[in-house]
Amino acid sequence: MPPLSVDVRRPRFKSVIFDVDSTVCAIEGIDWLAARRDPEIARESEALTAQAMAGDIPIEAVYTRRLERIRPTAGELIALADAYRESVQPGAQELIPALQRAGCQVHLLSGGLRIAIVPIAIQLGVPADRVHAVAVTRDADGTMSLLDGDQPLATQRGKPLTVQRLALPKPTVMIGDGSTDAAVRGVVTEFIAYTGVARRESVVTVADAEADSFAALYPLLFFPASSR
Ligand SMILES: [Mg+2]
Repeated sequence: MPPLSVDVRRPRFKSVIFDVDSTVCAIEGIDWLAARRDPEIARESEALTAQAMAGDIPIEAVYTRRLERIRPTAGELIALADAYRESVQPGAQELIPALQRAGCQVHLLSGGLRIAIVPIAIQLGVPADRVHAVAVTRDADGTMSLLDGDQPLATQRGKPLTVQRLALPKPTVMIGDGSTDAAVRGVVTEFIAYTGVARRESVVTVADAEADSFAALYPLLFFPASSR
């Protein structure tokens, strides 16, 4: 139930962009896949993700390497899609449709693997053409690797670049937990640090606001109910 203090018919933004891993869902997809490999690969992947999300190393330095080490199968990506569904943050299933009913365009913007994210988007009512993530292709041996070609979301500047290209109706807001989300700050009206799963000081510091749950997002995304 939305809080009575807000008017869910009056959104503050025309476009709302959500990060997926550690924002809409509690898991980090790549780390979830790595955890299915030997412990050394899992540890390496987690360390690389943490460094990349804290902004200590650029994502492109680790993206291909993580994927090449893990080499997920198609079946594992289906299992990952289920894991995303099971880890949806409380309240996301209500807030995202409420935004869309109010006339907002909701987009999912992720450095994760698109094929595993589309099912959760559909469940949340977000059309597949508003899911922006990394495309993989199936190799002859049945494992998946990065699709060749223009894949900005596998790079550090990929999120701002993608948002710029989308030219979404303004005002716009980005909601996410990582350094790649904070990098969108310059090309959106507002950036909200989502800290319901992971709280990174370097991200919170540059944010316009912080929300530690989906319930806490309502007053940031809707105008107050008029006090009549
Ligand atoms: Mg994230």
